[in-house]
Amino acid sequence: MDWKKIRKIDAHVHIIPPEILKLYRENEPESPWAHADADEYLRIMEQYNVEKAIVVPNNDGRMYYPKADDTNKWLGELQKRHPDKFLAFADVRKEGSYFMEDSPYDLQDAVEDYGLKGLKLHPSNLQLDADSLEMVPVLRKAAELNVPVAIHSNPCRVGFNDNCAPDKINKMIQVFPDLTIITAHMGGMKWQDAISGCGYVDISSVLPEFVKLYGIEQTNRILRGFGVDRLIFATDYPDVRYVEPEEVYETYCSVLNQMDFTEEEAGKIAYENILRILNRSSESVALRV
Ligand SMILES: [Zn+2]
Repeated sequence: MDWKKIRKIDAHVHIIPPEILKLYRENEPESPWAHADADEYLRIMEQYNVEKAIVVPNNDGRMYYPKADDTNKWLGELQKRHPDKFLAFADVRKEGSYFMEDSPYDLQDAVEDYGLKGLKLHPSNLQLDADSLEMVPVLRKAAELNVPVAIHSNPCRVGFNDNCAPDKINKMIQVFPDLTIITAHMGGMKWQDAISGCGYVDISSVLPEFVKLYGIEQTNRILRGFGVDRLIFATDYPDVRYVEPEEVYETYCSVLNQMDFTEEEAGKIAYENILRILNRSSESVALRV
């Protein structure tokens, strides 16, 4: 079995609006974000048999449009232009003290009007703890709409960046048993807190860093610790530490080829786990219509 060849859904990918992509290409061509382009990415998908990708925003008005609604509308159009390739999760913003008031409505419009398939929360960019009570209305709304929520979790930077710690996300997983939460990046450098929680984790961004820190065998044990039913294939293209955008899938596939997963287990991680999550929500969307 070869991870390059098996069919895959990448559950965490960034494509940025053309105006912002242009700024990166002109001013910071060395940045991985200069590669967050739909056409460039579609070619890579083809090459590595990535059948579908979930395009996620990051609650940052400088990387996407300043208003969440504009970003969500654009993501909806991206989905419509490539219906067999891209699915997108909704963006939210914290403007002043209005997060609780705005975010549930932004999510509802994103799902019902633009057809987005989930919600992305980036607690560090929102400067809100993942277990803040201010998160409750938007999480409640996601449960009501029956869409999954991917929460950024890589509290590896110093000081003030602990909003997304996995133990905070674990609390919300317990408080919202009717909600599907995906802890992104396996909890990052706090993966030990994520492993003892429950719920899904995506393996984006940190997998090559784990190999660098712990080696192949220990990385294999960490993935086994999460278990094949919780793991979701994802890369965080184009921004993976230590890896050039063009090398993201080569690196991911070569690491995964060295793990001890059977073909059936790889199928769950690469495709079936995330498909089950997405189908669960689309069934209920169909029912409500
Ligand atoms: Zn990301």
